[in-house]
Amino acid sequence: MSQAASRSIQALVARDYGQPPTVEWVELEPPGAGEVRVRLQAAGVCHSDWHAVTGRLPMPMPMVLGHEGSGVVDAVGAGVRGVAPGDRVVVTWVPSCGACYWCLNGSSELCAEANRGAVDGTGADGRTPLSWRGAPLHRFSWAGTLAAEAVVPEAAVVRIGGDLPWREAALLGCAVQTGVGAALRSPIRAGDTVAVLGLGGVGLNVVQGARIAGAARIIGADPVAWKGELALQMGATDLVGSGQDPLSAVLDLTDGRGVDVAFEAVGSVALMAAAFNVARRGGTAVMVGVPDPTEELSVNAFAFPSQEKTLTGSWLGGSHPARDIPRLEALWRAGLLQLAPLLSHDYALADAPQALQDLLAGRVARAVVTFPDR
Ligand SMILES: [Zn+2]
Ligand SMILES: [Zn+2]
Repeated sequence: MSQAASRSIQALVARDYGQPPTVEWVELEPPGAGEVRVRLQAAGVCHSDWHAVTGRLPMPMPMVLGHEGSGVVDAVGAGVRGVAPGDRVVVTWVPSCGACYWCLNGSSELCAEANRGAVDGTGADGRTPLSWRGAPLHRFSWAGTLAAEAVVPEAAVVRIGGDLPWREAALLGCAVQTGVGAALRSPIRAGDTVAVLGLGGVGLNVVQGARIAGAARIIGADPVAWKGELALQMGATDLVGSGQDPLSAVLDLTDGRGVDVAFEAVGSVALMAAAFNVARRGGTAVMVGVPDPTEELSVNAFAFPSQEKTLTGSWLGGSHPARDIPRLEALWRAGLLQLAPLLSHDYALADAPQALQDLLAGRVARAVVTFPDR
């Protein structure tokens, strides 16, 4: 049931690396085969959007930013069977193909086809549904949710219940899947001690994921005081704050032993090394933050055999959205997953550039663009 004409919509556009994004009128084609059009109700702003602007995440320009959101399906292309117009959905950014080596081996977050489209900015048919000033316009990893509407593959949307508010739902697209998923798929066992270095939108979700996984002690580290306070609400039991070295502070808090599982949730190479070094002998360090792709990480090689340490990583929290978003929704409904405390600031789409600036300045946990006129 696709509609013939393309539409003019407003979207947050990054023109080129290093240039400040601006809100522009762009053209959006109707959904093609296997695609759905979503009228956005809320969209989160993530540090990764900024990494695309700076080129730290190399992606094709120009592009519409945004990779988590919630909204209503208002049209579907040929062959779409899982959703219909009127459905409430979350939009997420790894629409796995279900057929590649990684999809068939339980790591759909690493899907080859999803990764290809994220890097070159085109859909399965080699096109992008967006254009701007007559030229192709790309979108952040198949999504492009910082826009009034988005045309995405069916696999990029997951239906949600009517009781989940739009702003809370938007966070399930990236921050919550990534953070909670990283903790739930880590080796945390009930009673463990955990450290989370960096308490932004993802780190705070690692904290609550660790609580859900049964960690008895959760040490959160961030120099920004209000983020520490929020981490206590999400389940942190100890804080390492400004003026403290995370490595020595976490070791002090654990009598020099270190933690069972350590997470880095910023993408800082120095903090990644610290996470490895605060993991106890036999412990695991999980890298969740996104570093600059040109950077190298240096850790002590002897620690691998002599201390049996594991160093590993997590992408989208190892999530398969169609499987895991309903589980996150169930955790929220059971009162185990907190979403509202992450929502401190709302913005209109026209103010999305400011939302990015406030995120960078550490003023917000998760900035959310809402569409209150709907
Ligand atoms: Zn993100
Ligand atoms: Zn695949």
